[in-house]
Amino acid sequence: MKIMKFGGTSVGNPDRMRALIPLISDSEQKIVVLSAMSGTTNSLVEIADLLYADRKDEASKKNEQLRTKYHQVVDELYETEKFRKSGHEFIDTHFEQIRNYTPGAFTKLQEKEVLAQGELISTSLLHMLLQEKNIRAALLPALTFMRIDKDGEPDYFYIEENLKRELRKCPKENIIITQGFICRNAHGEIDNLKRGGSDFTASIIGAAIQSSEIQIWTDINGFHNNDPRFVEDTKVIREISFDEAAELAYFGAKILHPSSVNPAREKNIPVRLKNTMEPEDVGTLITANCRWEDYKAVAAKDGISVLRIRSDRMLMAYGFLRKVFEIFETYKTPIDMISTSEVSVSLTIDNASYINEIAKELRELGAVEIEQNLSIICVVGDFRPERTGSAPEIFEALNTIPLKMISYGGSPYSLSLLIDTKNKVDALRLLSKHLFK
Ligand code: ADP
Ligand code: ASP
Ligand code: MG
Repeated sequence: MKIMKFGGTSVGNPDRMRALIPLISDSEQKIVVLSAMSGTTNSLVEIADLLYADRKDEASKKNEQLRTKYHQVVDELYETEKFRKSGHEFIDTHFEQIRNYTPGAFTKLQEKEVLAQGELISTSLLHMLLQEKNIRAALLPALTFMRIDKDGEPDYFYIEENLKRELRKCPKENIIITQGFICRNAHGEIDNLKRGGSDFTASIIGAAIQSSEIQIWTDINGFHNNDPRFVEDTKVIREISFDEAAELAYFGAKILHPSSVNPAREKNIPVRLKNTMEPEDVGTLITANCRWEDYKAVAAKDGISVLRIRSDRMLMAYGFLRKVFEIFETYKTPIDMISTSEVSVSLTIDNASYINEIAKELRELGAVEIEQNLSIICVVGDFRPERTGSAPEIFEALNTIPLKMISYGGSPYSLSLLIDTKNKVDALRLLSKHLFK
């Protein structure tokens, strides 16, 4: 069985939804994972923020705008009055639920429920469209099997057991539709896999049922060698390894959710990135094979902060770094880059929620300096330790950009650099010009 995940733009309007039908109607059995229609999750986040802020009228207005938009979608999507009527009723039930939350007394749990509506709606709309066209399909609710544990990691044991049980209920359906992004947490409450999480859903499902291929359908012909949102003339990479793709996704290549490569890599399931607007294009294939090339791709991740700790107690001492790491562990804050000298250590984080608390505790170990609004640039290529002469092009390219930290040797696939976010676009362009001439 294969997995086909369609992102927000691939279900972004009635035409796009109709265009999925030929893609999913072959005779092979498949699980179709859908995102919310593009823009919906952002609108739901805005509604939730307004409810938190007790701005009732604005929340209702936004809710009403979204409800109206979906009524138009229903009108355009279905041909028959019967399906339009049930479509409208279905939409109203979902927006009614949002309307009923009490602004000001809005909880984290309710926020998750609001955010889940996009995927619940898109999957039902497609299911109804197939029903209207007499195409057999099953709707498999993700909330019956997709679960994260108390650390926010997928509960693979639970997922596999429950997904397989649910799948046994639809042995004859070639098209099995489910929601990306949404899940339950360890307490059984509605939760999600973080923004962009539908890719992760597809990969988790693929791994759970050992699928033949995980296809991620989006609005571009696959992985490009630089970020097409900022750099012109980026080129598609036809083949890339799990390790390389994971580095790029983690370091900001938006085409894939940062965690989505791991489940596929664990079970060695090929991942194919495809463009719904150009289905005939082969896209990018991600497998365990690595074809070494000097430079393969560049990505950038924003929202980085660096903490620089300087302490004479570090000199010739052991156990110092353990104490530093324990502080980050207490605040459940992962470290991305690290660089040490004799008496100082610099660490970067992408979650600054507890930065002040962390800095306060670090100050008991030494002097602490914080810098924010930084970006990590990750260059993926051949950085195997036995190689000579690979990095100079990177430093030549960036000789006008202040480099705040460099990480080399942590992985044979990548080299990372820390820069000011205001220099990010220039840095990405310079790297494309020098590395991918
Ligand atoms: P979806 O809604 O289908 O999940 P996303 O917007 O999450 O789509 O991801 C696709 C977008 O990722 C592309 O439109 C592109 O702008 C952006 N992107 C960023 N870096 C890359 C890259 N290296 N290769 C391809 N796309 C990238
Ligand atoms: N709808 C969710 C989001 O916008 C998940 C996804 O699209 O992957 O983040
Ligand atoms: Mg995405």
